[in-house]
Amino acid sequence: MAFENGIIDLRSDTVTQPTAEMRAAMAAAPVGDDVYGEDPTVIALEQRAAEMVGKEAALFVASGTMGNLIAVLTHCGRGDEAVMGTYGHTFLHEVGGISALGGVFPHLIPNQADGTLSIEDIQAAFREEDIHHPPSRLLILENTQNQCGGIPLPVDYMKSAGTIAHSLHMDLHLDGARVFNAAKALNVAARDICEPVDSVMFCLSKGLCAPVGSMLCGSRDFIARARKIRKQLGGGMRQAGVIAAAGIVALEKMVDRLTEDHRRAKKLEEGLAGIKGLEVVKGGAQTNMVFLRVKPEAGKDCAAIKDHLRQSGILVGMSGVDEFRFVTHYWINDADVEKTVETIAAFV
Ligand SMILES: *Cc1c(COP(=O)(O)O)cnc(C)c1O
Repeated sequence: MAFENGIIDLRSDTVTQPTAEMRAAMAAAPVGDDVYGEDPTVIALEQRAAEMVGKEAALFVASGTMGNLIAVLTHCGRGDEAVMGTYGHTFLHEVGGISALGGVFPHLIPNQADGTLSIEDIQAAFREEDIHHPPSRLLILENTQNQCGGIPLPVDYMKSAGTIAHSLHMDLHLDGARVFNAAKALNVAARDICEPVDSVMFCLSKGLCAPVGSMLCGSRDFIARARKIRKQLGGGMRQAGVIAAAGIVALEKMVDRLTEDHRRAKKLEEGLAGIKGLEVVKGGAQTNMVFLRVKPEAGKDCAAIKDHLRQSGILVGMSGVDEFRFVTHYWINDADVEKTVETIAAFV
């Protein structure tokens, strides 16, 4: 597909708009008051989401940030610490919400180049009961790991991380904003990735194209507590079935096609890799992202390239002073990828 205005928007998969089928489902959705538990469309979405990641229950939330925040507030009390990666979205891009709103202390350990947190670092981060220590309550992983290159973390690694966390009496939360991209790239079911985790958040509003919303999934008891915290944060929605309807279409129709986005990211990587002065970094296109470093030999800096692309109707994001991030999605087709490569090749 392509956007009607002809813009090639590679900044993020968050720019995806709902499909015609989603808009039709939204218009037709039966609704009720979801705070009273009476919205049949929200209930159907929550059941479907829980099933797809192999958990007992799910909660429809306004955003991925809200889903991660509710998860942390449900797992942790004030003064507890949550162990996470320095490149984790929860540390980098969620406005410090876990500390500001939950009094939860972030304990940072480095992400490895493959997106994982090393088992040794997790073990070392855990603090024994001591009068000087905050209780280490939670481990957070991200899959795919966005900042490390959109890298999928393998099922075996997820298992090892679950084993170490649980042996230390920590819960494991997965920021699975793009867990279905990970599942497709690894050729496994999302529930295989999520099997070792106590809770998982995934986004409907990214590659899956829904206009709004994320899902938080876990045990029945965990989700009951999370539901109350969602209400406390002002996230109890009423006739939310109108937006949940798009989420159901997202789960039914938009998951399998993510492989197309991965194929196009690969094609973009291959095209860009051949251009002098540019270097594809962070392991290449492992899912729907390509990170590109602009070397001094290119003769043009990132700002100049970005500006030129914008004038050609192509929008890209920056992920560092000399680095671009390109994200493929439903609204990017093969011709868009070709035009992007050609435009850059002709300019640098
Ligand atoms: C986008 C994203 C989130 C947050 O989702 P929003 O809906 O934008 O709040 C969380 N984690 C990761 C890894 C993301 O990419």
